[in-house]
Amino acid sequence: MSDEMNSKVVIITGAGSGIGQAAARLFAEAGATVYGADMDADGLRNTEKLVADDGGTFYSQRADISSEGDVRGFIARVEAEQGRLDIACNNAGIAGSLHLLEDYPTEQFDRVVAVNLRGVFLSMKYELPLIKRGGGGVICNTTSVAALTGPAGTSAYAATKHGIHGLTRSAAHEYARAGVRINAIAPGRTETPMVTGVALDNSVFSAAFAAEADSLPAGRGADPIEIARAMFWLCSPAASYVYGHMLIVDGGVTIGGPPFTG
Ligand code: NAD
Repeated sequence: MSDEMNSKVVIITGAGSGIGQAAARLFAEAGATVYGADMDADGLRNTEKLVADDGGTFYSQRADISSEGDVRGFIARVEAEQGRLDIACNNAGIAGSLHLLEDYPTEQFDRVVAVNLRGVFLSMKYELPLIKRGGGGVICNTTSVAALTGPAGTSAYAATKHGIHGLTRSAAHEYARAGVRINAIAPGRTETPMVTGVALDNSVFSAAFAAEADSLPAGRGADPIEIARAMFWLCSPAASYVYGHMLIVDGGVTIGGPPFTG
C-alpha cells in the first residue's frame, strides 16, 4: 500500500461499479479517505467491503447526481465530516439504450443529459467552493471516446460526452488561478456492467459489439483498473502542469485507419 494520497479527501461518483469502483479501491489503497456516491446501494456496499478488505477507508452516500439536492447534500456531508475536499472524480454516467435519432425517446434523451451532463455540472458546482476553501485541488471528469467520435445509436450519450469535454475545458480555464486543476479522462471500451448492458439491448449491435474488442489495436477492451490508474495519475502531483486536458485511454481505437501488419 503506497501512501501517495495520505490525508487526501477524495470523492468518486458512480463508485458502486466498474471504473468508479476500481478508482475507489485505488485511491483508498494509496491512503485517501474516499467518499463514494451512487444510486445503487448494493453496489456501494460491495465497494465498501472491497475497500475494507484492502485496509482502506470508504464512506458511502446514496445519491442521484442529476438531483441538485442530492449533490448539495453529499458535498455538505463531506464538508461537515472532513472540512475539506482535495480530489473529485465525477465519473457516474449512463449509456441509454440504442435508437436512431428519430426514434430516440425524448424522456430518455432528457435522462441521459440529466445524469451525464447536468450531473457533472452539478458535481463541479458544489465541489469547487469546498476545494477552493481548502486551498485548491483536482477534478477529473469521466467522458468517453464518444466525446471525439459519433457511435451510431447513441446520439444522447455522444452529445453528453462531447458536452463534458467542453464543461471540463471552460471550468479548467476559470479555476486554474484558484489552484484547481480540472481534466477529463476519455475511456474506450472498458469491460464493465455498462458495456454488457448496452450490448444486450439489441441483437445486431450485440454481435458487432462482441467482435469489436478483438478488432481494437490493443486486441481487447480495458480492465476498469487501467482507466482508474490514468484517473489517479491526472489527480496526482505528477500531472501538476496538466490543465483542461482530455486524456484518451482507449486501446488505440481513436487512432483510426485499417489494420496493416506488413
Ligand atoms: P457502470 O455502469 O459499471 O458504473 C456506473 C455507475 O454509475 C453505476 O454504479 C451506476 O449505479 C452509477 N450511476 C448511474 N447513474 C447515476 C446517478 N444518476 N447518480 C449516481 N450514480 C449513478 O459503468 P462504467 O463503465 O464504470 O462507467 C463509468 C463512467 O465511464 C461513465 O461515465 C461512462 O460513461 C464512462 N465510460 C465507460 C466506458 C465503458 O466502456 N465502460 C467507456 C467510456 C466511458
